[in-house]
Amino acid sequence: MTTTLIRNLAFALTVDGDDRVIRDAAVLVDGERIAAIGPSAEIEAAHPSDGVDHVVDGGRLGITPGFVDSHVHLSETLSRAVFPDNLGTRAWVFHWAKPFYAHVGPEDERVSVLLGTTEMLRCGTTCFLDMGSQHDAGITVQAAAEVGIRGCTGRHAADVKPAEIPRGWTDEMIEHHFFPSAEAALEVLEDQVRRWDGYADGRLRCWVNIEGKEPCSPELHVGARALAEQLGVGTTYHLASSIEEAHVSERRHGLWPVERIAGLGGLGSNLVIAHGVAVKESEIPLLAEHDTKVAFCPSTSLKLAKGATAIGKYPEMRDGGVTVGVGTDGVSAAGNMNLMRQMYLAAGLFKDARLDANQIGAREALRMATIDGARALGWDDEIGSLEAGKRADFVLFDLDHFEWTPYDDPLQALVWSVSPASIAETWVNGRPLYSGGKVVTIDERELHAEARERAAAIVQRAGLDREGTPVTTTLYD
Ligand SMILES: [Zn+2]
Repeated sequence: MTTTLIRNLAFALTVDGDDRVIRDAAVLVDGERIAAIGPSAEIEAAHPSDGVDHVVDGGRLGITPGFVDSHVHLSETLSRAVFPDNLGTRAWVFHWAKPFYAHVGPEDERVSVLLGTTEMLRCGTTCFLDMGSQHDAGITVQAAAEVGIRGCTGRHAADVKPAEIPRGWTDEMIEHHFFPSAEAALEVLEDQVRRWDGYADGRLRCWVNIEGKEPCSPELHVGARALAEQLGVGTTYHLASSIEEAHVSERRHGLWPVERIAGLGGLGSNLVIAHGVAVKESEIPLLAEHDTKVAFCPSTSLKLAKGATAIGKYPEMRDGGVTVGVGTDGVSAAGNMNLMRQMYLAAGLFKDARLDANQIGAREALRMATIDGARALGWDDEIGSLEAGKRADFVLFDLDHFEWTPYDDPLQALVWSVSPASIAETWVNGRPLYSGGKVVTIDERELHAEARERAAAIVQRAGLDREGTPVTTTLYD
């Protein structure tokens, strides 16, 4: 196996158990893993450079773990800036996203995943939790494997049609989108896990993912988590994703979403709840008790008026022992797939909202974007921090860049000052996948041209138009 020694790094933000920051650091990569990390003098004494295949001088570089995106829709990448920006969550989902998704064909989806994962690598993201393919999970799994990134995906599933079929929903779309029963959905999802989990030497995982909330029955929510446990994988779905959803749940079932699922016996440690913005203080112990994880998506909250700062309890969840990762959600819901921007927002929103500078700050936000995300995905034994034995998934920042000139504390600079513009390299599994200003596994120019063409065709096929498509909804009320 090839060994690479990166020495004289200005800093290493390890995000290990002690949040160790090593100045003048060195990292030894052996094949797919980090063999050693520590002060340069120590590492070089133990591993003399003449016994190493490649030696890199990291003098103007700093290293952090790769970022983990805890909630994303890779099927959504061709819908950037298509829908209007005055949509709340439910109108966005039911009247815009669903018709759009319905017209994403298998080849569109492949291009969408290639495009999304290249954007991720350019933003330092090395691992993702994707809600799932609109078709076969193999499309996402194979495209992500081609790019070289790490992640979990699944196949989209729902089983409750709305009572009235809205404008823009076709019979074909309904048949494709909704399984006839929870049982039928779970049968297909099990098959998907058996076929795709562990692809590319385990770099791609396949989970029992469902859409969640109103379009899914209680049997599907509870069954998905139970089936995932039986198969030894995870599950993720949207829950408590808006205050409107909480109000509908209260009106129909007398309970808010988390307490309802808890009452059905649906919570567990292999469940990641996407958003979790409409959560009451009294529901936090339920999440903590079952070790259920939450993926906080700040950009989506800002764009779709979810109310992360008005009603969100993310600091209280963290204090209450709930693992909270951060997610980008997607280029339509959030506008971007830049996890560094989510980290920045997570570090600032609650200080401002609560008029308290001791709320979530740089240190906590970096943990949420790395090790806490890895824990949410059940992958913290291998990724999420820079430690000997873990996978070599990391980001090298170019410190000879205006964003880093000058700086003192690398942690504060990373979270408050820096963007993906100063990323020099993104490594996954011991390979530099983004390097020299490009993603090395794919022809990005060609991909961009194809993405533009396909996106325009989908918008046309979906018949979305700003004059006629509703911007509010009563669906599932
Ligand atoms: Zn989502």
